[in-house]
Amino acid sequence: MKRESADNILADEAGLAVLPSLTPLLLEWFQANGRKHLPWRKNHQAYRVWVSEIMLQQTRVETVIPYFERFMKELPTIQSLAQVSDARLMKLWEGLGYYSRAKNLKKAAGVLVEEYHGEMPSSYGELLSLPGIGPYTAGAIASISFGIPVPAVDGNVYRVLSRLLDSEADINAGAVQKQFYQAAQTMVPSKYPGNFNEAMMDLGATICLPGKNPHCEKCPFNEVCLGFERDTAGDLPYKSPKKKRKIEERTVFVIHQNGRYLLCQRPDKGLLAGQWELPNEEGHLPAPATKKRLESLGCKILSMSSLPASKHIFSHIEWHMIGYAVEAKWLQIPERSWWVSPEELAEAVALPSAFSAYRPYIK
Ligand code: SF4
Repeated sequence: MKRESADNILADEAGLAVLPSLTPLLLEWFQANGRKHLPWRKNHQAYRVWVSEIMLQQTRVETVIPYFERFMKELPTIQSLAQVSDARLMKLWEGLGYYSRAKNLKKAAGVLVEEYHGEMPSSYGELLSLPGIGPYTAGAIASISFGIPVPAVDGNVYRVLSRLLDSEADINAGAVQKQFYQAAQTMVPSKYPGNFNEAMMDLGATICLPGKNPHCEKCPFNEVCLGFERDTAGDLPYKSPKKKRKIEERTVFVIHQNGRYLLCQRPDKGLLAGQWELPNEEGHLPAPATKKRLESLGCKILSMSSLPASKHIFSHIEWHMIGYAVEAKWLQIPERSWWVSPEELAEAVALPSAFSAYRPYIK
């Protein structure tokens, strides 16, 4: 597909002028079709909006719902979040991935307790200054909880606007994102800006779907949408290709001794910083090399069997894993490691989902 300059979202300036007049159509559609059942929409308390928006980053709504409900039950206030232990927080987050989101939530809660009497600030700028809160989340909280007319612009909004305007500009380009932000800003009403942002989220999630087949026939914009009229919507938005993920091969060990399993703690910085993990080594080690390696670490192997291969995708890296189940006797315990019972693992330890293929072997 041909693309225009990455610096310009529009071939036709008239398209932009139309945008503000579309807001009433969207709000009317939202009134009848919005996802009002979502638990974080039961009330617009800023803490709930914040936690939900952070959970929803990179994660599907259906996945987030039970996590959100459990989190709110156990940590119903900013104070409780600021005080929760790291281990418990990781357990509540276990399976959602991108654990730095949870760490930043707690960090920001600490700032809120220290500097804001345990309340969320009601200005966009102050929200933006908190750890882990970027323009999208600040816009969502400011508009939904405090009625401030700012947009919350994410991939959904880029997609809807690209299609509405039939724009082939590259949504991975910073300059283009800025223009889409400004375009969205012209649509935000001074009254009910939160409804507008929730409506955009819902339109993008239920009607203007990614891929070839958006549900244009049900869309409130279908009489004005250039992407629909010109049959280009399925090819939009344009995204320049991302860098390919780096592939890392790893060998994972499920090592047990007297009914307890060995976990190791990752380094405090970098991927899965500070998390407990199943011991693993770089590369795909064949069985003889595995035996040699474990023995060099002080392990006497009583039995060993291969486990299925598995793959886990992080944002920039893919782990391609093979595994071994090992019954062992350790003469000296590796540093930063812990023998854990299956019960302790279930109740108190958050094992990153990268290892979920091997978790069933801990029993
Ligand atoms: Fe998206 Fe179709 Fe609606 Fe245009 S008409 S905004 S392409 S769903």
